[in-house]
Amino acid sequence: MRILVSGGAGFVASHLCDRLLAEGHTVVAIDNYLTGRRENIRHLEGEPRFQLVEGDVAEKVKLDGGFDAVLHLASPASPLDYLQHPIASMMAGSAGTKNMLDVALEQGARFLLTSTSECYGDPVEHPQKETYWGHVNPVGPRSVYDEAKRFAEALTMAYHRHYGLRTNIARIFNTYGPRMKLNDGRVVPAFIDQSLHERPLTVFGDGSQTRSFCYVSDLVDGLYRLMQSDEALPVNLGNPDEISILEFAEKIQRLTGSRAGIEFKPLPEDDPKQRQPDISKARRLLGWEPKVGLEEGLWRTIEYFRNSG
Ligand code: UDP
Repeated sequence: MRILVSGGAGFVASHLCDRLLAEGHTVVAIDNYLTGRRENIRHLEGEPRFQLVEGDVAEKVKLDGGFDAVLHLASPASPLDYLQHPIASMMAGSAGTKNMLDVALEQGARFLLTSTSECYGDPVEHPQKETYWGHVNPVGPRSVYDEAKRFAEALTMAYHRHYGLRTNIARIFNTYGPRMKLNDGRVVPAFIDQSLHERPLTVFGDGSQTRSFCYVSDLVDGLYRLMQSDEALPVNLGNPDEISILEFAEKIQRLTGSRAGIEFKPLPEDDPKQRQPDISKARRLLGWEPKVGLEEGLWRTIEYFRNSG
């Protein structure tokens, strides 16, 4: 297949490009480098089946055609990034999604949207199933991401229902691994960076809030399976192994040998108190489940950050 990947220089998308190329496909990646980085795809320079286009998906971009699939991953994804780029985040989810859907429609290509567990907001249902409608503050600081993605999901379903476009929606839960930006503010790079430099780990709130972390190769495998399925309704992709942020901090200190301790900081507004994917739908539909355990994945990620910086 000839596949368009938006946000191709980003953390998740760059790994997906690697996988698509390894499966024998041809990849055209588009990125405006707002939060993506050239170094994430530098190893693909000179690869004849890979092409990189600099451009913003929220604008009309001229692309050579012939696509069989359009995978829309372009968006800031870390809370720090989307709070710093609120309008660009909303545009990537809204105009960006429309433009990518239109490319798919014009080309007769299939379409996949990477959505987010943030659609569930600060969830009242736990763990979160795809049927849960969420508990989102539509005007809070995080809404620039949450509501843009919810709009993107609604628009994707509208194209599916109205035009019969073949679409998929992945709701991605917290993902980590090599190529995350050290300073993107997310908890995995933040804690690893702090530990490697013997600085105290900044735990927000009392650290009792939970997350469930999925290693990037597992997520990419889920995305690759999903894009081959005919399921149009959202599918959760994440690792159900749930941990409190305080326990997570202690784990990273143990793995890195850091003795710098913990510093408690205020909890950001609307920070979800708990998050854990129910992945029974992905298991049943895609035969997918994560394989890389948290310690194994963290070892690989710590190794990456040690060597990159
Ligand atoms: N967090 C933290 N210290 C940090 C960064 C994040 O305690 O230096 C917390 C944050 O408040 C949240 C969790 O870790 O409860 C995950 O945050 P992240 O920004 O990685 O992603 P989110 O799941 O909030 O999108």
